[in-house]
Amino acid sequence: MSSLNKQTVAVVGAGVVGICSALELQRAGYQVTLFDKTPPGERASYGNAGFLARQLISPLAENMSVFSAIKMWISPNSPLSLPPSQLINLATWLVRFMRQTSKKNIEVSRGAINSLNELSVGAWERLLNDIDGLHFLRKPGFLLLWKSKNTIEDVISQRDMMQRYGIKCELINSAKIRELEPELDQQLSHALYFEDAYQVSDPYKLCQALFSKFIERGGVFAQQEVASIKQQGEVIFLTALKETIFDKAIICVGAWSKKLVSGLGLSVPLVAERGYHVDFEKNGLNIKHLIASAENRFFVSPLESAIRVVGISELGGLKLRAIKSRFTLLKNQSAGIIPKLRSSAHKSLWMGHRSTLPDSLPVIDRHPVHPNIMLAFGHQHLGLTQAAITAEILVNMMQNEKTPIDTKPYSATRF
Ligand SMILES: Cc1cc2nc3c(=O)[nH]c(=O)nc-3n(C[C@H](O)[C@H](O)[C@H](O)COP(=O)(O)OP(=O)(O)OC[C@H]3O[C@@H](n4cnc5c(N)ncnc54)[C@H](O)[C@@H]3O)c2cc1C
Repeated sequence: MSSLNKQTVAVVGAGVVGICSALELQRAGYQVTLFDKTPPGERASYGNAGFLARQLISPLAENMSVFSAIKMWISPNSPLSLPPSQLINLATWLVRFMRQTSKKNIEVSRGAINSLNELSVGAWERLLNDIDGLHFLRKPGFLLLWKSKNTIEDVISQRDMMQRYGIKCELINSAKIRELEPELDQQLSHALYFEDAYQVSDPYKLCQALFSKFIERGGVFAQQEVASIKQQGEVIFLTALKETIFDKAIICVGAWSKKLVSGLGLSVPLVAERGYHVDFEKNGLNIKHLIASAENRFFVSPLESAIRVVGISELGGLKLRAIKSRFTLLKNQSAGIIPKLRSSAHKSLWMGHRSTLPDSLPVIDRHPVHPNIMLAFGHQHLGLTQAAITAEILVNMMQNEKTPIDTKPYSATRF
């Protein structure tokens, strides 16, 4: 750890992106204060599937037309949901999202997601090694499942696309699926099998371990809501319970970022894309792999203490309460591929807010006018996957070092 740099940095937001960034800054010798209105890791970073989803490189807009998107978002049994009360708030975002459905824009987003994802597991290995946390990392493999036999041509083209991006996968039949995962339904037709898929054993415990190390290394945590940040001259003025001065700041408040950055003159089309989880008791259930239904867009993750089913993409904003029928949908659909879940008790139900931009890319950038303020939000479905590499890139940028990839696609002014 470098002790030469004694500059102070405020990291606003103690989700997985903020905590990883705080640790990375400490490694570079900065004195870091982490701000969050709630205890660390209790928002989106709490209830995700724990999947280091290097393989998921498709933006949300992929395979959508204007009509299919609207149909899916308003249908009650769809994995996509758009509560009618949100329609007016979201009109501009939806227009931008529809523009992203073009072939050219899909390619751009996919390439830029892939660039981050390719480096994601390596970055996590470095970070976990640094905090003696490699025991959190597992390599269970990932099965992406299809029930319908008619989909085989699409699956082959998906496999070929993955391979073009350097992602190893194998097309397997129902007998091989059962051999790998005997608890799965007999009716499944085929799957893509990704042997090299990683996860963390428990995303919330991981956040707690990262946070403990940050405190052990001299980091300061302020449980306070940050009302505003501004840079005057070289100095950052941060207003929470009181005004405090820092040399630099990073804003990584996930789905809440829009308001804080608008105070800095930036307009970003960020929405809160709500997702849900149902945790099942593990009793008698022996699921070994990460599993997803391609047709119904949900995931099953074997965590340390539960079988977690996650899914739903609901453009419901920050204020609406969780909608009960979404949990029922996840329970029914997951029981459709793992029959034993039908008689399993659930341990907990949860809804969280992903921060999502229309092109499914995060913002990882320096503020265009206030160079001592860095921005890192909009990681949508991949914030856990991309947190460690985002933290490395941010610190490179802050120190005017070369970044491992071109960061133009993640610019804050691309909209
Ligand atoms: C159901 C579901 C499943 C998912 N599964 C996966 C997965 O398997 N793999 C994966 O890579 N990703 C997954 N994700 C996405 C991932 O969880 C998120 O992208 C990631 O947690 C975002 O981290 P974050 O630090 O940006 O945001 P958050 O964890 O939401 O943290 C933001 C923090 O900012 C704080 N904050 C907000 N406003 C202020 C303020 N004004 N002042 C101070 N603090 C403030 C909040 O309290 C919060 O703690 C999933 C998401 C959901 C919802």
